[in-house]
Amino acid sequence: MPNLRQNIITGDWVVIAPERAKRPEDFVQEKTLKKDVLKDCPFCVPNGSAYKTRIAEIEDVYVIPNQFPAFVPEDAVYEQGGALYPAFKSLGYHEVVILKDHKVDLENLSKNVWDELLYIYQKRLQFHYANPAVEYSLVMHNHGENAGASIEHPHSQILATSVMPSYVAKELLGSKDYFKKNQRCIFCDLVKAELGHQERLIFENDDFVAFCAYAARFPFEIWVLPKKHLSDFAQISKSERLNLGEILGRIFRALNSKINDPDYNFFIHTAPPRQGNPSDYYHWHLEIVPRLTKLGGFELGTSDFIDVVSPEKAAFFLKSKPH
Ligand SMILES: [Zn+2]
Ligand SMILES: [Zn+2]
Ligand SMILES: [Zn+2]
Repeated sequence: MPNLRQNIITGDWVVIAPERAKRPEDFVQEKTLKKDVLKDCPFCVPNGSAYKTRIAEIEDVYVIPNQFPAFVPEDAVYEQGGALYPAFKSLGYHEVVILKDHKVDLENLSKNVWDELLYIYQKRLQFHYANPAVEYSLVMHNHGENAGASIEHPHSQILATSVMPSYVAKELLGSKDYFKKNQRCIFCDLVKAELGHQERLIFENDDFVAFCAYAARFPFEIWVLPKKHLSDFAQISKSERLNLGEILGRIFRALNSKINDPDYNFFIHTAPPRQGNPSDYYHWHLEIVPRLTKLGGFELGTSDFIDVVSPEKAAFFLKSKPH
């Protein structure tokens, strides 16, 4: 029977309707062969054209400005519009964070490279938030063509914008309301609940818990929450970075081995510094969204979602032993 579920943080609804399709097994992807390194890959080191434009670099990772940015620094933008046609400066930054090794994937990244990658994310977020024009900065990673990655060489992106994204605004509002009513962080309560009943739990380690989201919008949507209450991802320590890399590595290996390297996005939601003081009620986290289905009219017409896989079954499937 279809099941209407609400994301307790954002208030968004989803219909979990597994009868419409599918068992988790139905999403196993065709095996594809990894391509060889292209001779003219722009991201490869040291000869790729992008490498020459780097603005930050450590041993295994470097950062460049996006060649076709969605957000641009102030001196390059204009305003237009009117009462009926509001338009604003698409003010901000758009950067690409590139792993130097073309052949690695997140499921086989070493501990040290995870640490470097997460450390670079932290440093770039701090850099962007130091700019008073930046309201929000998003770290995201696109893996595969269906997830929007146009270049195969592994890379993440960081956006910094002068407007608050509506998804994040809903999370901030919902978690603030919950805190007002209960004097507790809603994410801390979720960590406890998911660890308690374990229905959707996939993995945990000393610092993190990973579970399939209760009101998942997409099949195999996974949330990774830190066990320790902290609103700002940029504040996590080296040992927490290592444990985050550890749990992410396990998740991507499970996705790879159980559904054959699906395309996916992940992104980090962290407290924006210019929204009052969300440090009591907001709790940074990471969301992983495999891209196994296409959006239909319902999703576009309502901005709510129908998920055709039960999150409980998805969790069970991901943590089951390989067969
Ligand atoms: Zn490359
Ligand atoms: Zn919390
Ligand atoms: Zn979130």
